[in-house]
Amino acid sequence: MNKSAQDQIDAYYALRAEIDSLSQKLTVEHQKHLNCRQGCDHCCVNLRLLPVEFHAILSELTPDRIPYKAKITREEDPCTFLNNHSCIIYASRPIICRTHGLPLLFMNDEGTDLELALCERNFTDAQDMEFTVDNTYPEDKFVSRLNMINREFINHYHGSEYKGQQLIPLTRILNQESE
Ligand code: SF4
Repeated sequence: MNKSAQDQIDAYYALRAEIDSLSQKLTVEHQKHLNCRQGCDHCCVNLRLLPVEFHAILSELTPDRIPYKAKITREEDPCTFLNNHSCIIYASRPIICRTHGLPLLFMNDEGTDLELALCERNFTDAQDMEFTVDNTYPEDKFVSRLNMINREFINHYHGSEYKGQQLIPLTRILNQESE
């Protein structure tokens, strides 16, 4: 991979670290409402990723480093990387997996109002809670930053012809060699 593309992979890792830090803060803040625990895999479906995220994960996780013989499953099936209800690629899991269970704030499709997404297994007694920009995960802000990093990445990556919002199944890492 050339240096400019690698710079965008590094920018992805930095963004991921920032998101981890915010997710940890929000997890502490909402601890008493969160029922997320090892063994709960209701959020875990097969994912499709932007090229920069796919290649960043691929750089960390070649098939020989996956600690279980994962088999590619159909897109509508539970995530291929679950084994006994646990994520076998936890340290490298995609950004969306790092926000599972948290209160997510995003703009509606019309661009007129902010909407809140709450996991129905968490926040079961949150009727009186006040959700603000300070205690929710700002989905749009991070999606937009990830899109910008991805745009730069596909401008510089010459291993394949990627287009704007093209998505790659995460399961494809099982068929790839590291770069
Ligand atoms: S990568 Fe891991 S955390 Fe993400 S959906 Fe798959 S099993 Fe769940």
